[in-house]
Amino acid sequence: MTTNAAHLHEASPHTPHHEGPLVDAQAQLASAIATLGYEPGLHQLLASPRREMTVSVPLRRDDGSVEVLTGHRVQHNFSRGPAKGGLRYSPAVDLDEVRALAMWMTWKCALLDVPYGGAKGGVRIDPRHYSRGELQRVTRRYTSEILPIIGPDRDIPAPDIGTDEQTMAWMMDTYSVASGYTVPGVVTGKPVSLGGSLGRAQATSAGVVHIALAALEHLGLTPTATTAAVQGFGKVGSDAALFLTEAGVTVVAVSDQYGAVHHPEGLNIHALQAHAATTGSIVNFPGAQTIPGEELLTLEVDLLVPAAVEGVLTAANARNVHAKVIVEGANGPTTAEADRIFAEAGVLVVPDILANAGGVIVSYFEWVQSNQAYWWSRTEVDARLEHRMLAAWHHLLDVASARGLTLRQAATVTAVERVADAHRTRGLYP
Ligand code: NAD
Repeated sequence: MTTNAAHLHEASPHTPHHEGPLVDAQAQLASAIATLGYEPGLHQLLASPRREMTVSVPLRRDDGSVEVLTGHRVQHNFSRGPAKGGLRYSPAVDLDEVRALAMWMTWKCALLDVPYGGAKGGVRIDPRHYSRGELQRVTRRYTSEILPIIGPDRDIPAPDIGTDEQTMAWMMDTYSVASGYTVPGVVTGKPVSLGGSLGRAQATSAGVVHIALAALEHLGLTPTATTAAVQGFGKVGSDAALFLTEAGVTVVAVSDQYGAVHHPEGLNIHALQAHAATTGSIVNFPGAQTIPGEELLTLEVDLLVPAAVEGVLTAANARNVHAKVIVEGANGPTTAEADRIFAEAGVLVVPDILANAGGVIVSYFEWVQSNQAYWWSRTEVDARLEHRMLAAWHHLLDVASARGLTLRQAATVTAVERVADAHRTRGLYP
């Protein structure tokens, strides 16, 4: 939770051309249903969240005043196992955003064949403006409000925008105190000291880079002759930029919500991480040019990794994107219209539900380890992560070419088919 960025000017979080992530998520589902030829009843079932909870979260501020925040937890589907998905703290959180993110989690878990359904949570709060004590009270009250519907066999939260391993530690403690014993499997993305998995903190970024390198190879591009731009410099974007440079890619630009920095010869990501840790932002990084955040998306680069928020690649800017490949570190960064433009232009878009699935894969490993109280080595975690990501990538390429679909269509079709199969095999109750 950064407080030392108060002096920085923030970019507008959403573009005016974006109808919202739920519209995109529903359009993707409708297209998959059309490809699969499913009946309207099954479409409706898959389009509707299984369970939604909206809660008031009263907070006593440090000055003694009381403020009432709003929180949500949406469980989209659990035909294939307990629901799974992150918890977001952001002023942009609303119920439709949480619904979209929960639906994407269902498809992501099915595509990667981890035994979960999809969920998502959110509290409408800008965590940068609250103290650590206030954030702890918000987290504990929110957790106790949603307590009846979460649990290691029901719904397992994890970090997302604005939350971190400390948030997960507070959630685990609140749930455990209410249960009367320690329940480490109720959340993932915990600190390693509390039963978190080695490799979880960097898993999403590592997965993004496994997929980015596979996509470059698929296009016949060599990492050392490739340039990249990364939007977002948080838990996903910052290490994705680092791992790309370690693989030989020249990362020429990165951005955060305050702006972007650009250096045509490549940025020193280690030094940039240190600068961001000290100042609260990447802007004004010595030796690089600070440019407006949205310019990053249209730079002359081979690879673009949006790793910030949804709805940033739209009909308004998609035709100006020069990248040959877009690897979606964020959830939902590309609107349906932008997707069509990229498909027509021959830009390879690797969809979020594959590209950023490293986090949920290692969350699954963490849950398995927590439930068994038996811990794996970092080497074992990393090797199993890479194997699962690349197996899913190759499967997706096969489905896309066999069915004549884009990677996103192939990913959604594969996932929807697996969820529908589980639903049909279980049967409709009563
Ligand atoms: P984070 O809060 O750690 O970082 C978010 C970053 O995005 C920050 O650098 C912020 O400044 C930047 N940002 C916000 N608005 C921006 C804008 N308009 N332009 C440019 N930058 C902007 O969050 P995170 O965990 O890194 O999540 C980023 C994305 O990745 C989200 O879409 C999230 O759902 C997705 N994701 C995260 C994980 C995970 O394990 N953390 C897993 C899968 C997907």
